[in-house]
Amino acid sequence: MKIRDLFEKKTVFSFEVFPPKKTSTIDVIYDTIDELRELNPDFISVTFSAGGSSNNALALDLASKVKEYGITPMIHLPCINYTKDEISGTLSEIQNRGIENILALRGDINPEIPPKKDFLHASDLIEYINSKGEFDIAAACYPEGHPDAESLERDIDNLKIKVNAGADHLISQLFFDNSYFYYFREKAVCSGINVPIEAGIMPVVNKRQIERMVTTCGASLPHKFVKIMQKYEHNPEALRDAGIAYAIDQIVDLLAGGAEGIHLYTMNNPYVARKISDAVKGIINV
Ligand code: FAD
Repeated sequence: MKIRDLFEKKTVFSFEVFPPKKTSTIDVIYDTIDELRELNPDFISVTFSAGGSSNNALALDLASKVKEYGITPMIHLPCINYTKDEISGTLSEIQNRGIENILALRGDINPEIPPKKDFLHASDLIEYINSKGEFDIAAACYPEGHPDAESLERDIDNLKIKVNAGADHLISQLFFDNSYFYYFREKAVCSGINVPIEAGIMPVVNKRQIERMVTTCGASLPHKFVKIMQKYEHNPEALRDAGIAYAIDQIVDLLAGGAEGIHLYTMNNPYVARKISDAVKGIINV
């Protein structure tokens, strides 16, 4: 199943998972997938390390498992630290496993790893994938602009290059203030980007995530979000419930605002995914 065909029929609701750390067993994540499939997502995407991690074999196994469980898989594929030969090998592996959907990415530039020169931008990878086979290709987009871009406008110009290179649909970076998504979407449409855009939603449900949000994530933290996190940060259960409620509130507003899809960063937490799915399933395709 190619994901692009889904957008013609419905509002897409998808999940993202990541492969287990080397210290935990693959069975744990298989149990997670088993629980997530009960929620009947339109697809599950699996992250892939840009740095050539040995976890990448697990990412491919995980995507195969998603398929085996009857859910459409999407594999992420960052290119900046790989040669054409390496990407070609991975594409053959993806094809042999019957995986049809790829999220084509540049990957973050790590100052300690000099980038390989074959792919400088995700658009280079998209062209290459298209020359290699019949895949559905998604690309990333950034409602608040990519941190490397000099402005949102310039980032959208570059996004247009990705779409023109053959991206079939887009998945957004997480955000906590929907007005950024709406503004970005309007600008994207005005600049001629007419592929479906899924809104990426990250439920923030524990203190570790809050700390990461504050230090590394480029997303703006609205006053309402900060107030909730400060109020409940020392009460794990209340924080979890407040984080879930915040994400549901965002999703309800996005659906009412005509979002073509919601991509939930599940953080491999089926409890959180279930609470959110249960809350929005009655309104997602109204
Ligand atoms: P690009 O589209 O190449 O953009 C990167 C920068 O270059 C931007 O500033 C853009 O404006 C500029 N640019 C783009 N094209 C051009 C051009 N043709 N000419 C000039 N400038 C250009 N990373 C991982 O390592 N593994 C993952 O699994 C992963 N999953 C992700 C999933 C989602 C939904 C998102 C939003 C991000 C994910 N990332 C992942 C992170 C991503 O790799 C980084 O955000 C990375 O820094 C940029 O990747 P990109 O594909 O958007 O790059």
